[in-house]
Amino acid sequence: MKTTVSRIAGHATDLFVDGAWRKPASGRYFASYDPSTGAPWYEAADGGEEDVDAAVNAATQALQDAAWNAITPTRRGGLMHRLAALIDDNKEDLAQMETRDNGKIIGETRAQTGYLPDYFNYFAGMADKIHGEVLPINKTGMLNFTMREPVGVVGVIVPWNSPLSILATALAPCLAVGNTVVAKPSEHTSASALALAELCMEAGFPAGVVNVVSGYGESAGHALSRHPGVAKIAFTGGTDTGRKIASNAAANLTPCTLELGGKSPHVIFDDADLERAVNGVVAGIFAAAGQTCVAGSRCFVHESIYDRMVDRVAARARAIRIGRPEDPNTQLGPLALQSQLEKVQRYVQYGLDQGATLAAGGGRPPIKGNGWYFQPTVFSAARNDMKIARDEIFGPVVCMISFRDEADLIAQANDSVYGLAAGVWTRDIDRALRFARAVDAGTVWVNTYRSASFVSPAGGFKWSGYGKHNGFEAVREYTRVKSVVIDHSGLGRDAFVIQLK
Ligand code: NDP
Repeated sequence: MKTTVSRIAGHATDLFVDGAWRKPASGRYFASYDPSTGAPWYEAADGGEEDVDAAVNAATQALQDAAWNAITPTRRGGLMHRLAALIDDNKEDLAQMETRDNGKIIGETRAQTGYLPDYFNYFAGMADKIHGEVLPINKTGMLNFTMREPVGVVGVIVPWNSPLSILATALAPCLAVGNTVVAKPSEHTSASALALAELCMEAGFPAGVVNVVSGYGESAGHALSRHPGVAKIAFTGGTDTGRKIASNAAANLTPCTLELGGKSPHVIFDDADLERAVNGVVAGIFAAAGQTCVAGSRCFVHESIYDRMVDRVAARARAIRIGRPEDPNTQLGPLALQSQLEKVQRYVQYGLDQGATLAAGGGRPPIKGNGWYFQPTVFSAARNDMKIARDEIFGPVVCMISFRDEADLIAQANDSVYGLAAGVWTRDIDRALRFARAVDAGTVWVNTYRSASFVSPAGGFKWSGYGKHNGFEAVREYTRVKSVVIDHSGLGRDAFVIQLK
């Protein structure tokens, strides 16, 4: 019995705890909606505190069981390779599931699920290459070495925009280093996390290593973030929610990795390859209907080419094919949530009220039915101090802002509470490097945008959060370092003096 699109459509899903399906203690289920029609398509279990507690207990038990903690790192990597192969076998169904759940176009979800096997294989390869060090301690007759250990139970709280990929950014390094996981998907997109947990079992991970508790943020998410049995929280989502989670976790001094919002500057200098730059800007904001944390939502253009660039970006925006997300010809699907649609509409009005001009879009496209569609929208005459340039809209809306020179650009680009990502288009390498050094952003792309890689550390500064995923940085996030000091000198030492030599 697999969680597939055909099996869950019209049915109810349960929680996945300790390797088995479990009914929620509340006995309640809630609807998950298809954004392309606005209609419910399955019901997810309304997990709460009691269910989170059961999942954390199962994850704690799994940490203590030899089936997980005595497995060799190479074998652990082997399980992950097997999981990667199973994801590969199921990638089409997983893509269909994501598209149905959050409205992301099928071309994007296929790309995401097609990328996941490599993601898991990469971390699988790390499983037996993580080690401590022997340190040249400044004491005679002593040996000091470090061990890099799993942190324990990791609570992973996932949003709705890329549920499976974002879960994988925490799950893959967590499994590679030997942690156990309790995941709380968004109430809007529970299906793919449950399917992934099932694949983990099929791959041979022991019961309790991967658990999924669906439910609401304020109940299941809240309970997970304040559970004393959780050693680390990995959260991706909005900045306000990130604050609540960090504050809950602080009660137990539980460390967090927070991947939060962004308002990323995407810059075009007058010496750029303008064709490529326009492509980059269009893909940087309209991919996933702008619902990505790294969306290049503030596009800074040198004043000498500003009007030309606005025209070109607007023309490209108007040509985007909007339609049903499962149609492979569609370039822009609906927004994932009705509340997101309403938020985007509100922000377009703020933009107009503050004097920005619509160069493209700004309204609902003429698509039949009740889907949550919105046109790709380009604001010209936008200023960095406008609300549309200050707040994360999380929709297909780009603000075109002009700049005079590099100093003006950096001042404007960094005048934001966020610091997640940035992009720059120029043929001048010195200028690109000056920008990369000066900008407050965790990732800087030069003559490309949204080029993600599992080797490349990602994570923001300022209100975009802290901690990194991808690469060895992710291993650091999910391990703890223990220092072991051994006296093998055979010397008697004074019991009341700390040994300085
Ligand atoms: P949230 O930040 O609220 O949701 C992310 C996850 O956190 C979901 O699983 C959610 O559950 C959970 N959650 C919500 N409240 C709590 C809580 N008090 N304690 C623990 N977990 C909680 O995203 P929203 O859907 O509210 O989106 C709001 C804004 O956040 C968006 O408009 C966008 O600007 C930004 N955002 C950024 C994302 C990113 O990738 N950086 C991703 C998603 C949103 P549930 O869904 O059940 O509420």
